[in-house]
Amino acid sequence: MIYYKLSPTQLEAKAEEVLQDFDSERLQKPKPLDVYDFVDFYMHLPYDWMNITPDQSVLGFSAFNDGYWWEWKNGTDWKNGDLPVKTEIKNGTIIIDNSLINGNNRGRENFTVIHECFHQLLHQKSFSRARHGIHQCNTKDFYATLPSTNGWSTRAKIEWQANACTTAFLMPRNAVNNVFQETFHSNNKVILRNNTRPIIEKMAHDFNSSYAAMCYRLNKLDLLTISNNNLKSIYNF
Ligand SMILES: [Zn+2]
Repeated sequence: MIYYKLSPTQLEAKAEEVLQDFDSERLQKPKPLDVYDFVDFYMHLPYDWMNITPDQSVLGFSAFNDGYWWEWKNGTDWKNGDLPVKTEIKNGTIIIDNSLINGNNRGRENFTVIHECFHQLLHQKSFSRARHGIHQCNTKDFYATLPSTNGWSTRAKIEWQANACTTAFLMPRNAVNNVFQETFHSNNKVILRNNTRPIIEKMAHDFNSSYAAMCYRLNKLDLLTISNNNLKSIYNF
């Protein structure tokens, strides 16, 4: 698998370049976002939803060639004897698992959609020979906390690149700093506690992100301290 080494700074710059082009105002302040508008009008890619697996182990996938997927029509309601159905997928298509649109976590859905877009923007060469033309993104590829950079597989590094771009795209550094300053009237780091949770939930909503992704971003921008105990509850974007 072809893999390009990209630093966190380069990935953030890439995300901001895309945002500048798409809607530069978002670099400074959060605005409501329909991620499918981004897929449609900026990426010019087709998208759809399906029951990708019977156990929600895959949250989304992108096609890097014309290919196919074995779709589980009944999703988690599958019964003994149900078999997946071969479904043609056109090159460039982004597919999101139905569990995300039925799961009442818009932030997570948004994250998955933008993650797939960054695979399309960054990883054409990496996945040009993907099996059946498809690169699938497993639930575990969306872990916010990976133990250590040592021993990561190439695939894990590529997934991490898409996640890094997605956090910078949905929660741009300047916009997050601006909202943080307005909210806490200071640039001092806050601690994740019961009383800060509703404030961060509101920020997550304003940045069209999940609570976990917002905590992760604030932590990476050195604005939030997360205890090891709390870290466990926000491991997944
Ligand atoms: Zn992925």
